[in-house]
Amino acid sequence: MDPIRIAVIGMGKIARDQHLPAIAGNAAFSLAATVSPHDPGVAGIAHHKSLEVLLAEGPAVDAVALCTPPQVRYDLAVQALNRGIHVLLEKPPGATLAEVAALSARADKVGSTLFAAWHSRFAVGVAPARAWLAERRIDRVAITWREDVRVWHPGQAWIWEPGGLGVFDPGINALSIVSHILPRPFFLKAATLTLPSNRAAPIAADMEFRDTTGAPITMDLDWRQTGPQTWDIVVETDAGTLKLSSGGAVLSLPSGTQHGENHEYAELYGRFAALIRGGRSDVDTDPLRLVADAFLRGRREITEAFND
Ligand code: NAP
Repeated sequence: MDPIRIAVIGMGKIARDQHLPAIAGNAAFSLAATVSPHDPGVAGIAHHKSLEVLLAEGPAVDAVALCTPPQVRYDLAVQALNRGIHVLLEKPPGATLAEVAALSARADKVGSTLFAAWHSRFAVGVAPARAWLAERRIDRVAITWREDVRVWHPGQAWIWEPGGLGVFDPGINALSIVSHILPRPFFLKAATLTLPSNRAAPIAADMEFRDTTGAPITMDLDWRQTGPQTWDIVVETDAGTLKLSSGGAVLSLPSGTQHGENHEYAELYGRFAALIRGGRSDVDTDPLRLVADAFLRGRREITEAFND
């Protein structure tokens, strides 16, 4: 079977750190081109400054991975889908829920694969956590996602703009895991979003959810954490406590702790190839919907200005 000719669009941090190595390590794909307005591309691979130019001048591609900021993703995805090209959307899949729904309908209409890629769901502890929780009574859940924005997002202006999500850019990864491992849906009851006076997106958020049995789920998101970073999910159940830490890489159960090695993007591309070969799409918007609800129902507090 011929490899899927793929172009990486948006040659920033995640494209270089994860997408290029994952594509290079998967025989189902061959990197055909890159697109980025300012980045020089990769030696020996066709490079264009925009998707329009790639589509007009080639080389031919079967798929694109959209690794841009979310605000420009819809227009790029529509261009690709209209050519029958399969599309991987980095997380979050778009700047609004309605645009992702429109993309999903478009993909179905043209018969192309659309994949909303939630990389954290492929962390090594996530599948066993989901299996262990499937039969449990959930008593309470505590999510703590505290990191230093200056370390992880230096100079990323888009992340502070409307649609950039601010602290929900990492926080949505936690929600992608929790919405995948808990056996029942959950929804927002209250939230406080803390915004720097000079920014359009929050630097911190406190959230309270309930699942459909009434179990409380709290979420503490903060981008002002220096020193050790925290990416923990603790689930108390009738059979004891489950803890996923280090973003899903370490799973602690009453029976012991499992440390695995994360291959999130290798798994992600395995899934994308399977979806394309099977003629299917996978567009789960649950994590984005929970974040949208925080903006819909959350109280805003203004805090001191943030400068990089
Ligand atoms: P980034 O470093 O700012 O890179 C984004 C790149 O997109 C920029 O380098 C820019 O290219 C390019 N771009 C902007 N508009 C474009 C357009 N219209 N067409 C083509 N390229 C365009 O951001 P990032 O950290 O890689 O994040 C990108 C996405 O991946 C975000 O949605 C983020 O949530 C997600 N993500 C990031 C991480 C992470 O650890 N950073 C992890 C997982 C997922 P030029 O430089 O050429 O202008």
